Amino acid sequence: MSLKTLIQSVFPGDASEVDSPFKMADFDEYVMHTYARFPLALERGAGCTVWDSEGREYLDFVAGIATCTLGHAHPVMVEAVTRQIQTLHHVSNLYYIPAQGALAQWLVEHSCADRAFFCNSGAEANEGAIKLARKYAHTVLKIDNPIILTAHASFHGRTLATVTATGQPKYQKNFSPLVPGFHYIPYNDIAVLEATIAELDKDQRQVAAIMLEALQGEGGVRPGDLAYFKRIREICDEKGILLILDEVQVGMGRTAKLWGYENLEIEPDIFTSAKGLGGGIPIGALLCKSFCNVFEPGDHASTFGGNPFACGVALAVCKTLERDNLLDNVYHQGRQLRRGLRMIAQTHPDHIGEIRGWGLITGLELKADSPLTAPDVVKAAIAEGLLLVPAGPKVVRFVPPLIVTADEIDQALVLFGRALTGLL
Ligand SMILES: *Cc1c(COP(=O)(O)O)cnc(C)c1O
Repeated sequence: MSLKTLIQSVFPGDASEVDSPFKMADFDEYVMHTYARFPLALERGAGCTVWDSEGREYLDFVAGIATCTLGHAHPVMVEAVTRQIQTLHHVSNLYYIPAQGALAQWLVEHSCADRAFFCNSGAEANEGAIKLARKYAHTVLKIDNPIILTAHASFHGRTLATVTATGQPKYQKNFSPLVPGFHYIPYNDIAVLEATIAELDKDQRQVAAIMLEALQGEGGVRPGDLAYFKRIREICDEKGILLILDEVQVGMGRTAKLWGYENLEIEPDIFTSAKGLGGGIPIGALLCKSFCNVFEPGDHASTFGGNPFACGVALAVCKTLERDNLLDNVYHQGRQLRRGLRMIAQTHPDHIGEIRGWGLITGLELKADSPLTAPDVVKAAIAEGLLLVPAGPKVVRFVPPLIVTADEIDQALVLFGRALTGLL
């Protein structure tokens, strides 16, 4: 017997309090208006499909913005969440936490890093990376006012330090004074980077770290240039500068490699992970090599960070990536998606420009002189039953769960083609 039927049998008549239909107006009355939400309310999901409060079905090519690695209601997630909540879900970092150690070991054994610290989000992981780089600068490099270089159009989070690191004024407006110690450079431009470091050196403002995304996600799905990153690695080695890579969006198999930096054939000194790491359970990680592992007891902490719940689930996600060979799936489905999008682009040459990406992160750029914007296209796709997310005003982003099938890619292409045809 359902709860509703039970209540109706005890109090015949009104069961509206038990499952009153969702009303957007009520939501807007109580929740802060920090998001421009699309007008649908998602209530249920399975695999790459989600359903809204009206029972409409959508193919989910957003995946909580590159987060639901295994899609929705995956048996591994259900099992791991259930097991953790039944055994132990939270204890303090005052004690050893076996699940945390096991996740750290998996990440270290599957990356270039030697140590991990756990927190709850991408911004918090990047905040930790900034603190680690600053402590390294003060204690090892002996720099009193360390500068961290970050890129224009980057995205590193919404805390004060990470929104300062984010090279997009629209996210910083009205939040000054920002955190000092950041300096911005154009992405994929090695000449400006070298000139900037030399210029800052002359003013006795020393660069301690360079923090970049291997592929800029929010900034328009822009892959890093191989030669650019290789030269940056050399410069960092020559000058003792730390290379920090923000792997929050592209790490955990999204690009068909486990880490985005593998596409660039370099290793960072420090990197961060979050979005896909817990498959949708909040968790972030800061990882580093031994030589810059300068945190000591008391330097950095997080109440929830690394608790048995988040770590147990994240470890199950990691092991499933490996067991099910998901990187292969990401490679093949990503190629098929881009091939299909390029065919669609050929039928709308006035509107669609470049299609780019790695693995299952793809951006479709709308031409500058097309009147179409990314939100217009996303709205039209939603109306056809396909969820997509803009990456800036002119780029439509496709980031489905890593378990997406060839059939689902084909379906998404059909829905997307229909959405565009309807708009033009
Ligand atoms: C989403 C994102 C962040 C911020 O992560 P939150 O979990 O929202 O704090 C940071 N960096 C990159 C590259 C991201 O895509």
